[in-house]
Amino acid sequence: MAGTDSGDAGAAARVTVLGLGDMGSVIARTFVERGYRTTVWNRSAGRAAPLVDLGAASAATAAEAVAASELVVVCLLDSAAVDEVLDSVGSAVAGRVLVNLTSGSPAQARAYERWAHERGAEYLDGKIMGDPPHVGTAHLLLPLSGSLRAFEAHESVLRELGGVAYHGTDAGAAAVEFMAQVALGYEMLIGFLHVLALVDAEGGDVAAFAERAAGLVTGYPPLLTSIGEAVRDGDYPPDLGPLRVQAALMDDMIDHRESVGVEAVRMREVKDLMDRRIADGHGGQGFSSLFALLAKRR
Ligand code: NAP
Repeated sequence: MAGTDSGDAGAAARVTVLGLGDMGSVIARTFVERGYRTTVWNRSAGRAAPLVDLGAASAATAAEAVAASELVVVCLLDSAAVDEVLDSVGSAVAGRVLVNLTSGSPAQARAYERWAHERGAEYLDGKIMGDPPHVGTAHLLLPLSGSLRAFEAHESVLRELGGVAYHGTDAGAAAVEFMAQVALGYEMLIGFLHVLALVDAEGGDVAAFAERAAGLVTGYPPLLTSIGEAVRDGDYPPDLGPLRVQAALMDDMIDHRESVGVEAVRMREVKDLMDRRIADGHGGQGFSSLFALLAKRR
């Protein structure tokens, strides 16, 4: 419920939302429904009307909306839209806390933080992991980074939107987390599609295999954790077995794929990395040790 994060004692907290697309509208509606004094602005004015009906105030310009609340949540299409809107806001942002939930890169987040600081504002960057119906539930995850003071002051308001995690004072860190988590999904799922192609080429039932695979992956979390620790420490145990044993299996996997006309590019990459580690004298180490060939350590 609305507290007093950014209003007078006893009064409902104020929040401004810039951008009322599919995501921004639900964010604004959530704040209104939970008792926040919500001011909204959108480039196309018509999108504010349903929120005004619920009790939000509609501002004529983005600068006017920013003036209405200390906490300003930005949820626009992309960074080009954010650039345009922030240009129009200019010095009105002084003394405000900008929470930019627009998708974008770590470098863009850091540039927005500089922009905000130059104008006397604080900046938090956030990335939305979830869909509009998830807003206001634990299914929406919101990695945030940037000003710790701003995070601590407004955490309870931001928690109205979903699960919140603070990733540190580097404004780019939330975007790094977002990119890494999204990439993990794609990296795993393209591998899964390659495997389904293999099952399909052998005349197998891909749906039945997928069901068995779903049970299989529940065993992976401990392996992910131990690989993370091995990579952090640079100390690689023979996880999944010693590389010299695994490499022999790789030959079979590549041959099998090629024999049924299925792309073997990923298995060849794994085999190549294993061969290089073995040639460097690390054949007794495990799968995690391939990281040593992938990493560009700072
Ligand atoms: P959307 O429905 O397409 O809405 C885009 C918003 O950006 C609208 O308010 C639009 O204003 C505004 N906009 C676009 N260009 C602009 C410009 N040049 N100047 C001012 N305003 C501009 O997108 P959305 O779904 O709300 O997504 C918003 C952000 O949330 C995106 O960064 C998206 O990646 C992220 N996100 C969305 C989802 C999702 O499922 N929707 C999930 C996770 C993250 P007009 O109404 O005037 O066009």
